Amino acid sequence: MSYQVALVPGDGIGPEVMVHATEILDAIGDKYDHVFNYVELEAGGKAIDSTGEPLPADTLEAAQQCDALLLAAVGGPKWDTLPGHLRPERALLGLRAGLGVFANLRPAALLPQLRQACPIKDEVLAASNPEGKASFDLLIVRELTGGLYFGKRGRIDEASGGHSPGAAFDTETYSWTEIERVLRAGYDAAKVRRHKLCIVDKANVLESSRYWREVAAVVSKDYPDIETSYLYVDNAAMQLIRAPGQFDVIVTSNLFGDILSDEASVLTGSIGMLPSASLGSPADPLAKNGRPMGMYEPIHGSAPDIADQDIANPLAMILSAAMMLRYSFGLEKEAKDIERAVNKVLDDGLRTKDIVNRSSGGANEKVVGTKEMGAA
Ligand code: ATP
Ligand code: MG
Repeated sequence: MSYQVALVPGDGIGPEVMVHATEILDAIGDKYDHVFNYVELEAGGKAIDSTGEPLPADTLEAAQQCDALLLAAVGGPKWDTLPGHLRPERALLGLRAGLGVFANLRPAALLPQLRQACPIKDEVLAASNPEGKASFDLLIVRELTGGLYFGKRGRIDEASGGHSPGAAFDTETYSWTEIERVLRAGYDAAKVRRHKLCIVDKANVLESSRYWREVAAVVSKDYPDIETSYLYVDNAAMQLIRAPGQFDVIVTSNLFGDILSDEASVLTGSIGMLPSASLGSPADPLAKNGRPMGMYEPIHGSAPDIADQDIANPLAMILSAAMMLRYSFGLEKEAKDIERAVNKVLDDGLRTKDIVNRSSGGANEKVVGTKEMGAA
């Protein structure tokens, strides 16, 4: 099969790490007889410099023609003083909207090679792990385009002409459709994982959360082989630290997902290791072969402080390419190959600077640069 992949290498360390994502895709292509055609696009700071806009119209149009988008990182101090609508980060919002992606998938897994990155004790980790191992492997699915961050907000200023005592409000609104589509993204992810899905909400207090549960009661019927559970967000925040091994897929709202995914990420080590996916619906016009359009990117930013020094960790970018194979192309075996390759280089002791000294004793760590890590 051949696949059209839109590439936004972007700014800062973006281009340095992107090279290794395409390198590994080409290797996968050779092994399994797939062809990955790349369409390199400008967005973010680079696009501002050459066109004056963070997201030129032809970048978006070209991305929409492709099967998926791989993005490294955009932004940097050079563009920080621009007005809001011209900032590089605008490109991300525009791409998300233009590609119709609404489910943000963030895996958080503790790799045994980086055991010391996680502050939780062995016995605590093992107690919740189904196999009694001191590790966990979970996926947070965060709703990305609705809820509190996009609801009606405003000020209610009493008699005082805008000064105290006034009031301010933000509202959480979720439609059935918005909830259903993100739940389905979660269930579809659970199907290629361990078949467990936990909905995190605050249904003891919030009407919108109770509505999520009503939708879930209906949608879950389509996934009889997946075990559905519910947790209040305050409890979930605690459980993530106390017993992370109990989780497989967590699906939650925009606000709760923002907070929980950052909490989960600090349990796994370096920001340089964590990929993400933002998916649309398999029923969307941009979807191909019943697979969702997706935008795949590392969770780290452009890291201008370490750009062009051959020290950035390329693994988050490489693992983002693996997520693309899994979710937009349905190439599970190929995705696993990439994940195994990452596992192997870590087993071999290769470490970029950001992940040195995270092993539990004994490991033969060798500090390498971006290029050596990517090539390995
Ligand atoms: P953004 O606003 O785009 O998220 P940021 O400044 O908040 O940017 P990053 O660009 O992710 O965050 O950088 C945060 C810190 O993590 C920096 O010190 C950076 O050097 C480090 N860092 C980020 N990505 C990597 C990576 N791939 N390898 C090593 N270190 C990284
Ligand atoms: Mg940041």
